[in-house]
Amino acid sequence: MFHQESVGFRIFQPENSDFNLNAVKADRLKPVLYDTIVIMSAKTPYRTYKTYLTRKYGASAYRIGVDGGFSCPNRTPDGLGGCTYCDDTGAIAVYHRQKEAGEAQKSYSNGSPGIGVKSYYQYKPLVKRKEYIKMQIEQAKKFLETRYRAQLFLLYFQAFSSTFDEVFVLKELYDYALSLMEFKELIVSTRPDCLDIEKIRLLASYREKVGDVWVELGLQTSVNATLERINRGHTVEKFVEIFRILRSNGIKISVHVILGLPGESYAEIARTADLITELHPESVKIHNLHIPDNTHMLKEYLHGELLVPSTARHLSYTTCLLERIPDDIIIQRLTCDTPSHRLAAPRVFQKKGAFISQLGKKMSTNNNYQGRYLEKSVGT
Ligand code: SF4
Repeated sequence: MFHQESVGFRIFQPENSDFNLNAVKADRLKPVLYDTIVIMSAKTPYRTYKTYLTRKYGASAYRIGVDGGFSCPNRTPDGLGGCTYCDDTGAIAVYHRQKEAGEAQKSYSNGSPGIGVKSYYQYKPLVKRKEYIKMQIEQAKKFLETRYRAQLFLLYFQAFSSTFDEVFVLKELYDYALSLMEFKELIVSTRPDCLDIEKIRLLASYREKVGDVWVELGLQTSVNATLERINRGHTVEKFVEIFRILRSNGIKISVHVILGLPGESYAEIARTADLITELHPESVKIHNLHIPDNTHMLKEYLHGELLVPSTARHLSYTTCLLERIPDDIIIQRLTCDTPSHRLAAPRVFQKKGAFISQLGKKMSTNNNYQGRYLEKSVGT
């Protein structure tokens, strides 16, 4: 059993750790200045993204998730390779995946091969990719205005590794998308090994046009052994190196983590929290471990090689992480939202809204709150 009180604010270094967190601490990084102060409430004892956006823009601002037809260096063109939990969809926005529902009967539950919903526009000519981007933006805008009364929009290159191309291609696609309508921010999701100084300078140049430029950067865990086991294809050191360059170019950073990866539990999560604390990104996205159909991880799971956290365990893992990171880091996400017909495990997991509500109540009841284990409160 895990005793929270025994953890405190100290650096977890599992014995088999090969990443030197102290080296990061020695080169302490300063976050980009915050332009908004978000107050945590008893109901949400952590900083919510919604509150951040509302206070920053004074209106309802929503992301338009776009699949730019990128691929990923960690996968081969035939769709093989990749992170062991990747099912070749590369995190395409849910509202662009409507056709998938009709394929539900092919899912893992009845033993058939299932669907691989890769970006149809990967490797297509630029002109086709632009047409696709335009179509997605128009569809998403309409959807968000109708469903959520969205007033302002943020452009979010979401699917696959959205910097995995030549710089001139990136410029062409970003410029085109930003010319289609007014966006308040440019957000690009990618991997540490898909960024270099030239690409980072290009991204930074859009700050003149849209104000904030964000990069969502996958870390997943601060334990190199786990990164190797899940075939992430990059190290913690590479992540830290790219993080530093992004920060020094004035780009805001959202760090992606997955809680409950194979072989990981509270000690590893606390260690990942320690690294986040040292790097101090503007935001964090937390995902529960989910195993889609057609993945290598599903085979491991079916062979009994790993456990998948339940709702209760993910809630406890999430609290563990939140309590160990600074209270001014915005929490953009708390669970995954893989469509149920693609999700092989866990087959039963609380819906996002119910999970968030339960987390808020439980943390408040138990006097858990973001940053509780840190010596000083930051930013408020
Ligand atoms: S980085 Fe993303 S797209 Fe690439 S293999 Fe991993 S999960 Fe899939």
